[in-house]
Amino acid sequence: MNFSLGLPYTTKKWVEVMLEFIQSLNEWQFHAALILAFILLGVVSRGAVSAKWSKSKAISGIVNFAFLKLTFLYSGLFFFALPLLQGWYDGMGFPQLSSEFWDDIPWPVTALALLFMYDFTLYWVHRLLHTSVLWPSHAVHHSDTDMNFLTWSRGHPAEQIVIASALILSSTWLGISIEAIAGLALIRALHQYYVHANLDWDHGPLHYLLVSPRFHRWHHVDHPDAYDKNFASIFPFLDKIFGTYYNPHSAFDMPTGIGEHTPGHNLVALTTWPFMEWARMIGVKLKRAPKPPVAPQPSEG
Ligand SMILES: [Zn+2]
Ligand SMILES: [Zn+2]
Repeated sequence: MNFSLGLPYTTKKWVEVMLEFIQSLNEWQFHAALILAFILLGVVSRGAVSAKWSKSKAISGIVNFAFLKLTFLYSGLFFFALPLLQGWYDGMGFPQLSSEFWDDIPWPVTALALLFMYDFTLYWVHRLLHTSVLWPSHAVHHSDTDMNFLTWSRGHPAEQIVIASALILSSTWLGISIEAIAGLALIRALHQYYVHANLDWDHGPLHYLLVSPRFHRWHHVDHPDAYDKNFASIFPFLDKIFGTYYNPHSAFDMPTGIGEHTPGHNLVALTTWPFMEWARMIGVKLKRAPKPPVAPQPSEG
C-alpha cells in the first residue's frame, strides 16, 4: 500500500520541525514545558485564584500526569497495530481511495478534507464510547471532578485502542498517510489541553467552527441535560448537525465528573475499574440468561 498526501512542502516541513523539536526535548524539559503551559493557562484564565489549589485538585493533577506517563509507555504498541489493521483491511477487500487521488486536488481542499475526516471519525468514535459496552473505558476520562488542563491526559488504554483503530481504518479507507494523521494528532493534543483548561472562553462568532473550553466543559458537566452532548473534538457544527449540541451559558460553576460511579483520583483503581465493570456486566447478563428447560422426569410408578 502506497501512502502519500499532497500536502505542500511548507506544511510537511512545519510538521517535521515540530516533531523534531519535541523529540529533541528530554523527558524533564517536556514535562517542564507542559507544567509551564498549565500555569500560563491557569493564570490567564483565573489570575491569582488559580494559584490556590485545593488538595483534591493537586491529587487530580498528579493522577492525570501519571496517566500521561502511562500513555507514553504503551503508545509504541500503535506501530505494531498499524500494519496488522491495514493488512486486515486490505485482506477483506474493502474499498479504498488511491493515494494518487489527492495529487490533483489543491492542498487547502485536501487539508480541510483531512481535518473533516479526522473529526468526523472522532465524533462517531466518541459517541460509541458513550454507549453502555464501551462506556467503562471512557468513563475514566470523565471521572475527573477537578477538571483542568491535565484532565486531557486521563485516558484509559482501552479507549485509546478503540480511537487509534478507528483512525487507522478511516485513513486507510481514504488513502491518507499515517504521517499526516500523526501530525494532526499532535496539533489535536495541544488543542485538547487548551479545551480542558480552566477557561470560560466560547470563541464568539466562531463558536460553531472551533471547539472552545466552554463547549468541552459542558461535555464533562455532571448534569442530566449535559449527558451525551458535545462529542466533537474540532468542529462543534458536527454536534449541531447530529443533534447533540449543548452550550446554553457558562459551565464554569457546574460540577464535572460522574459522581459516585468511579473510584475518584486513585490511579490503580481507575486503571482496573473498566475491567471490573465489564466483568460485572457479564455477570449480570449471565444471571439474566434464561435457564434451559428441565426435561420432565418420568413419574415414579
Ligand atoms: Zn466523552
Ligand atoms: Zn474531555
